[in-house]
Amino acid sequence: MSTSICSRALRRSTLSARSFKLSARAFSQSVSRDASWGFIGLGAMGYPMAKNLAAKIPEGDTLTVFDVNTASTEKLQSESSSQNVRIAKGPKEVAQNSDNIISALPEPQHVKSVFNEILSESLPKPPSESSRIFIDCSTIDPITSREVAKLVKEKGDADFVDAPMSGGVVGAAAGTLTFMVGADKSLISRVEPILMLMGKKVWHMGPQGTGLSGKLANNYALAINNIAAAEAFNLGIRWGIQPKALADLLNSATGKSWPSEVNPPVPGVKEGSPSSKDYTGGFGVSLMRKDLRLAMTAAHEAGAKLVLADVARTVYEETEKEHKGKDFSVVYRWLGGKE
Ligand code: NAD
Repeated sequence: MSTSICSRALRRSTLSARSFKLSARAFSQSVSRDASWGFIGLGAMGYPMAKNLAAKIPEGDTLTVFDVNTASTEKLQSESSSQNVRIAKGPKEVAQNSDNIISALPEPQHVKSVFNEILSESLPKPPSESSRIFIDCSTIDPITSREVAKLVKEKGDADFVDAPMSGGVVGAAAGTLTFMVGADKSLISRVEPILMLMGKKVWHMGPQGTGLSGKLANNYALAINNIAAAEAFNLGIRWGIQPKALADLLNSATGKSWPSEVNPPVPGVKEGSPSSKDYTGGFGVSLMRKDLRLAMTAAHEAGAKLVLADVARTVYEETEKEHKGKDFSVVYRWLGGKE
């Protein structure tokens, strides 16, 4: 075994047991050539994810990146300690030069336009592996995702799986994201170790598209629970209960939810929460509005009745108008809650 192969093998051995599975696979399939990775969309989530990836892929592997915002790709290249980050001129160049391509884009139209560009001409053989895989971590609607997956299969002879995430910017930086994957069972052994380089949990929800369905079902519940928690705090505090005493009660009784316990909407109830920092950080009200809209579209297509959705949409639209850029718990302030 040559020294470089030896050091790559050693480096791989420092990865988690699960990612070692990937390493063993990549290693056995690419001894004559390094594996190639791609990342498209280096925004609030994508940038720290790509940074983790660049730091964790075996030495000698390359990561080709693209974002319309060149400042972020240049920053990643300059901040990555190893010399393995290359900047592409467009998404097509990323796809052509990579076996495993991850994307984290804002909305369905961005995912569509990126993949239309990638597939505008036929893709060459993947550089190192026997097949190419696209892992899309964007939160979009399942229908668009399925359309793109079909196109990728037909025109690009590659697999496209949906792997939306939760854990926010903090989880992305810490490499502790949770991914909800929609993919054929046969692809999970390839997808899971890749995602484990950026996260700590991977849920296989079912066939392609169901990762997004799981994510949107979760975020629908979150949208409603957040409003319910804000209203309950507003009520109790106006009735004269101290905010912390009310939080203790709710969180040890049946009113408990993620917004009441982890992300309480009342400033001072929990140190470090967005509400205690003037509603900064956390999950932006615009993202909540977007996910609710996607959930409503997907529910309509599935014929599922959502009785609270229209009211919730109005709440987030109105809150966004007044408090754009703030954490979604700012609904409490929008309700006129005492701070
Ligand atoms: P963002 O807007 O910060 O980043 C998106 C990036 O995509 C930007 O850097 C933008 O320049 C780039 N981009 C846009 N169009 C492009 C194109 N055609 N080609 C290449 N790059 C392009 O968004 P984000 O917060 O990183 O979120 C990404 C996805 O993850 C979204 O779908 C979001 O809903 C989801 N998400 C976000 C969070 C969060 O807390 N921010 C949490 C979970 C999931």
